[in-house]
Amino acid sequence: MGKIMIVDDSLIIRMNLKKLFEKQGYDIVAEAVNGQEAVEKYAKHQPDLVTMDITMPVRDGISALEEILRMDGQASVIMISALGQELKIIEALDKGACHYIVKPFKEADVIGKVQNALKDKMKEISNVCSSR
Ligand SMILES: [Mg+2]
Repeated sequence: MGKIMIVDDSLIIRMNLKKLFEKQGYDIVAEAVNGQEAVEKYAKHQPDLVTMDITMPVRDGISALEEILRMDGQASVIMISALGQELKIIEALDKGACHYIVKPFKEADVIGKVQNALKDKMKEISNVCSSR
């Protein structure tokens, strides 16, 4: 338990998250630059956890979240949001995202939320995410 997929159209954000997760011993099994790639790579790599940017070209993070949850009702998805996207965050949580992180993020905040999401997933708590 510890396979993570990072989804963000910003290379810098992907690099920062990857460095942070690898330092904690997590395995980055895939990276995606938009929601469409995220859906395809989720199916292929079956990560334990996804960090999902909201605003991306081609397909946004909320649409990708919905499709991933249709494929895997137990998917753990943490939304990564820019400041000022409160309505989008509420929408994502309502649709089944586990947690959210606001950029610029603090390392401890990111690690804490990832650890909690993975711990809950391991316990197979089906209502781990807010709306479930
Ligand atoms: Mg973005």
